[in-house]
Amino acid sequence: MKNITVIGSGTMGNGIAHVFAQNGLKVSLVDVNPAALEKALNTIGKNFDRQIAKGATTEDQKNAALSNISTFTTVAEGVKNAELAVEAATENIDLKLKIFKEMDLYSPQNCILASNTSSISITRLASVTSKPSKVIGMHFMNPVPVMKLVEVINGYSTEKSVTDVIMNLSTQIGKIPTLANDYPGFVANRILMPMINEAIFTLHEGVAGVSEIDTIMKLGMAHPMGPLQLADFIGLDVCHSILNVLFNGFGNPKYAPCPLLSNMVTAGKLGVKNGEGFYDYSHGTKELVISKSFVK
Ligand code: NAD
Repeated sequence: MKNITVIGSGTMGNGIAHVFAQNGLKVSLVDVNPAALEKALNTIGKNFDRQIAKGATTEDQKNAALSNISTFTTVAEGVKNAELAVEAATENIDLKLKIFKEMDLYSPQNCILASNTSSISITRLASVTSKPSKVIGMHFMNPVPVMKLVEVINGYSTEKSVTDVIMNLSTQIGKIPTLANDYPGFVANRILMPMINEAIFTLHEGVAGVSEIDTIMKLGMAHPMGPLQLADFIGLDVCHSILNVLFNGFGNPKYAPCPLLSNMVTAGKLGVKNGEGFYDYSHGTKELVISKSFVK
């Protein structure tokens, strides 16, 4: 495989493009927003600089990787030579269905269509294409250049040869692919999101403060960061929509998003990506500062 298209150049899309390009693959990176494409190339450059500073890669390798990436603002242009197209656009079912129809229409007949969705049904995305057997989930973790796991999700009709290609490709780019079947939240988010939601309920009900909840889970469970900080990092809107997918998919109230999370998303407090969630990131340093809303 030589030509890969990544659709969506936000938090995940730029990381996915980074790892493919670093491993010698030609990447067509697509975003409807030209500013997002520019930001993505900048972020990829900065992430390479960090790796160079650690001695993990070289300036020449950075330049080679960047020269492997071309940018496009329409799916139609971006997928025309793709052997694999990985959709990493905003977590919204209607948007993803529209993108999958376009991927199917404009890509070569044998192109594999993958989604990096955190929770939306792969079988549902496959159902709007002409080739459900070639549709699969390729769920990378954030930050993509650092995290080893790719959760590979077989849709109802995904054929084995497609799964094999994606498992091998993931290994080739230095990841550890692990298989799951297509049920709401797959494995990673079915287990992670209830924990994050419970941490938010714990805050909402006044059992403990932001810092206490994160410290207890971080030190007590040897997690690298607490669940509230992790929610900020993932994006509170992303957490909210995944919980709704679990809630609707299983019809079980145990997955209903905490009202505090819903309020924060409605108020536009989305976490790291826009400067404030449970913590305040507006000062631009690595220091953890609790958001004003939660300081008693
Ligand atoms: P993001 O908001 O950072 O980026 C989404 C990008 O998609 C934006 O740049 C937007 O302009 C672009 N986009 C919107 N409509 C488009 C279209 N029609 N064509 C092309 N591009 C379009 O979102 P993200 O956090 O990168 O999430 C992307 C996907 O990855 C989601 O499905 C999410 O569930 C999944 N995911 C996110 C994380 C995480 O930690 N953020 C982890 C794993 C998986």
